[in-house]
Amino acid sequence: MNSKSTSSLSSNGSGSSKEGTPVRYNDVSTLVSRDIKLDYGNVLLVPGKMTSVTSRKLVNLICRMDFERTDDSYYEGIPIMAANMDGVGSFDMADALISHRIFTCLAKMHSEENLVKFFSGDSQRRNYCAVTVGLRHQDREKFRHVHERSGPIKFACLDVANGHTQRFVSFLKDFRSEFPDVVIIAGNVVTPEQTEILAKAGADLVKVGIGGGSVCETRIKTGVGYPQFSAVLECGQAAREAGARIVADGGCTCPGDVAKALAAGSSFVMLGGMFAGHEEGGGRIITRRFNTGEINGDGKPILKESRFVEFYGMSSQIANDKHFDGLQPWKTSEGREVLLPFKPSINETVQDLLGGLRSTCTYLGAENLVDLPQQARFVQCHDTHNRVFEDSPISDHSISSMLI
Ligand code: 5GP
Repeated sequence: MNSKSTSSLSSNGSGSSKEGTPVRYNDVSTLVSRDIKLDYGNVLLVPGKMTSVTSRKLVNLICRMDFERTDDSYYEGIPIMAANMDGVGSFDMADALISHRIFTCLAKMHSEENLVKFFSGDSQRRNYCAVTVGLRHQDREKFRHVHERSGPIKFACLDVANGHTQRFVSFLKDFRSEFPDVVIIAGNVVTPEQTEILAKAGADLVKVGIGGGSVCETRIKTGVGYPQFSAVLECGQAAREAGARIVADGGCTCPGDVAKALAAGSSFVMLGGMFAGHEEGGGRIITRRFNTGEINGDGKPILKESRFVEFYGMSSQIANDKHFDGLQPWKTSEGREVLLPFKPSINETVQDLLGGLRSTCTYLGAENLVDLPQQARFVQCHDTHNRVFEDSPISDHSISSMLI
């Protein structure tokens, strides 16, 4: 046996390796895409010429979106979604965000009873919340029961880590034929080809993003991913050509990134980390002492006590322990766990975010978010902003690294 040209995979956990089969290599001249692909941190929006929008107050962030695949279904609100993650996609968060006309994809693990109670007799919650559905049989059953018991659910989020599989596409097609009137958000993918496939299989909104999330370790553990800004540009175009839209999911670190995603052609932006750490998320609150980095009069380090919130990726060890009886022996954790400074209310964060978006619109001369993509021009850059005070001892960024 030639060791250079044969596979010696002996245990992949499923027993389906083809032992002894020669490895086949692709043509190296076409193996690596030489186009430079970009993240939000590699581009800036360019201000418009002599724009006529004079005040942020005049900018309208409410959009109306009609969905081609579902008759009479539309969304009217701000095109931002809270992610279906523990600590973000909670009922309290959804209610708090509805008051700002922002959408929530509820976390997958809410029980049927709680979902029925949440949706029954409440049209606002139906207009601003999606029920998240995974590939498991019991998830689909739960959706069907909630749909029947609480009155029709308007939005479903079919969510898997890897939307590039035949199994997911068939699942989506089945779901579409069973629920023709439900607006379907489906993903995640990062290529235009798979975006088109999901759109044709029945997705109204294709969720785009693999590996770029704040508590995601997929790129580290698997080497797989795609720079998010380029994924948004390329998948957005593919979705439009197929009569669908995209949700840019993951990788936004600040309001400016959200503006870039919308300007690049995403119909919605999904946020996990930016909405995490707030009371409404319902995450575990922990009081910890941290070293401020300052020294008192006696030359001793100044310690302070502060509240933090646990936040973790949905493929992390802790999420697997909570929801799936631990990590199965063939899996690795693809998410991390962090402690975030506790914030008592989401309202300030929302104001910061929406104020930023209004300001983007005035810089670009867009009276609303619908006009933003048309007004957008980007410039590629090496760095987007000045970081000189980011490591100041009292900045939010540095506190969790100083925990003792
Ligand atoms: P963020 O807004 O925090 O940057 O990204 C949120 C997105 O990260 C989620 O909507 C989801 O797509 C993704 N995500 C959440 N948990 C995990 C995880 O454990 N692993 C990976 N690979 N992605 C995750």
